[in-house]
Amino acid sequence: MRRLPPFGRTVCAAVLTGALLLGPATVTSPSAALPAAPQIWAPAVNEPAEAVRRAIAEYPWPQQEDRPQRRNAASPRSDGDSAGRLAQNQADQRTQENAAEGRSRMPHDGRAGRDRMHLNPAGPVDCSAQPCVALTFDDGPVQQTRQILEALDSVSARASFFMLGSMVAQNPDITVEVAAAGHQIGSHGWSHTAFDELTPAELAEELDRTAEAIQGATGTAPTLVRPPFGTTNPQINAALGAPVILWDTDSGDWRHQDAEQTLTTVAERVAPGSIVLLHDLQPSTAEAVPQLLDRLLADGYALVTVAEILGHSGQPGQVYQSGLAPRGEDRPQG
Ligand SMILES: [Zn+2]
Repeated sequence: MRRLPPFGRTVCAAVLTGALLLGPATVTSPSAALPAAPQIWAPAVNEPAEAVRRAIAEYPWPQQEDRPQRRNAASPRSDGDSAGRLAQNQADQRTQENAAEGRSRMPHDGRAGRDRMHLNPAGPVDCSAQPCVALTFDDGPVQQTRQILEALDSVSARASFFMLGSMVAQNPDITVEVAAAGHQIGSHGWSHTAFDELTPAELAEELDRTAEAIQGATGTAPTLVRPPFGTTNPQINAALGAPVILWDTDSGDWRHQDAEQTLTTVAERVAPGSIVLLHDLQPSTAEAVPQLLDRLLADGYALVTVAEILGHSGQPGQVYQSGLAPRGEDRPQG
């Protein structure tokens, strides 16, 4: 029987930041020019070095009970840790109660969501004709996701949210609000366990449970996947059976947890076609978003979903780090 990962492994995808900084996917200056014709950026596979794995630190979940749990985990700690088992049992029970509550409120066909739909009045955006940026928010939904929704709505911007199934089960109402506002929802797995630490059966269960939770809340199953830590490999990509969405612009938000740094880091690094990694789990990110939106719009970017910036719905098993750039535009090395 495989040993369960310690809490330290249950950290955010942003931890891959370290891998990106060390690996070939390093984010470079926006001035790095690439061929001008609109195209899908060449996929790359991230395989974090062992040094990066060792460097993965405790991810700052706001509260202990916010840490996602793997299903059927005997104990998040040692076998003798009854407190850990009790905490997990309580979390499981709360998740089940919330999920049941959510199901009773939300029809499975998503009618409640559609009734409240207020799509971006700007309409579809052609990112091969104008500079676009796709903001992505991971590890929610959580309460401050609503702050981000308000900010996006106030400027008619769209974004994408890569949700943990465990968080969807806890916050089905917020999940519906994200979908109803016209944003894209992708899967980030259920428990935030790195996909390469799961057996094929466990991976399938993580994906299925998460898809069921999102579909149960919104009426629509997710079609995109972002692996926790951004950790993937060709075998995982094939097993996912979905487009694998990474990023070319890392806000570093979970590390510094500073709204000003989030703003300046993203504003300095984005280029036409960028996919930006952010975390709605972080209150400092929610704080930064209004100014970030203003800055990106002032710089002439349309703020779109991942599907829009790719220009299509993505190919199953393919990894994407950025999307379309208009003809003649520079784009980041990604
Ligand atoms: Zn994450």
